[in-house]
Amino acid sequence: MKKYCLITNDVETTSLWNHCLSDKTGEIVMKEGMPLLLEAYQKYNIKATFFFTGYIAKRFPDIVKMILPYGHEVGCHGLVHDSDKAFDVLSYKDQVEHLNQSKDILETICNKEVISFRAPALRVNNETPKALMDTGFKIDSSVAPQRIDMFLSFGSLKKLKWLIAPRTPYFTDPENLAKKGKGSIFEVPVSSFLLPYSGTIMRISPLLIKMVRAELNLEALITKRPVLFLIHPNELINEEIEIMNVNRRAKNYFAYILGDKLRYHLKLKNLGKKAVPLLYDQLEYLHKRNYEFITIKDYYKKLINNEAIRQES
Ligand SMILES: [Zn+2]
Repeated sequence: MKKYCLITNDVETTSLWNHCLSDKTGEIVMKEGMPLLLEAYQKYNIKATFFFTGYIAKRFPDIVKMILPYGHEVGCHGLVHDSDKAFDVLSYKDQVEHLNQSKDILETICNKEVISFRAPALRVNNETPKALMDTGFKIDSSVAPQRIDMFLSFGSLKKLKWLIAPRTPYFTDPENLAKKGKGSIFEVPVSSFLLPYSGTIMRISPLLIKMVRAELNLEALITKRPVLFLIHPNELINEEIEIMNVNRRAKNYFAYILGDKLRYHLKLKNLGKKAVPLLYDQLEYLHKRNYEFITIKDYYKKLINNEAIRQES
């Protein structure tokens, strides 16, 4: 039985070192972070999915072009990554506008249809499924079921519904991406077992990530569930620290300490070049267990075809 692994990358101008969005970071991501990922994926014969913000693609079109010769998928990570313009605070109309603009930017650069989406900071609302459907998207990967670290991330209360979200990829409800339903958007959740299988957790605790991946591997064996890993090329770059104080985004003090300060300090752990061997350790682990590494789009196509075959017979 084949086991699938979906390696996904969110490409944006977020500086984890300086807790802000910066074009300078975008340039280092393109010149240093992306080549590190591409080299690692080539070594293990991985076809991965890269979700780009429209902003970084427009500012640095080469960051999109550089993945094309390897057969990786170009996905959409919204138009911008500003937290006040996240999808969970945008109206339906603004979501459609952002999706159309970023889809257009990406498709012009890669000359292919872009059908996969991941919301910046995984923040979505009830309007998002419809906005995605109405702009030609088919796949979403903004839900991380049963992770409990959402209290450390933004929009945490809205993410409570993740606790009961399905773990196997599914067609979503037209008003809720975290729920199965009759909508046309196919959800491919970020794998998680209490914690998400992500670069952040990999860097914060090499021990915890071993537990997460062992459980996910077991699930993949038993249930055919794909394993989805999430990393950012900006996690692999070193930058000079320019800020003295963490920007306060949260409204109350409790949320400030949890959501801003603690999160900032955790996010610095094993950041930059130190993260590279940790990434190789993940890929080596998955490679040894004979996962087939494919893009989200190809996984979707395989599954849809299988469904069609099953319905016919
Ligand atoms: Zn992001």
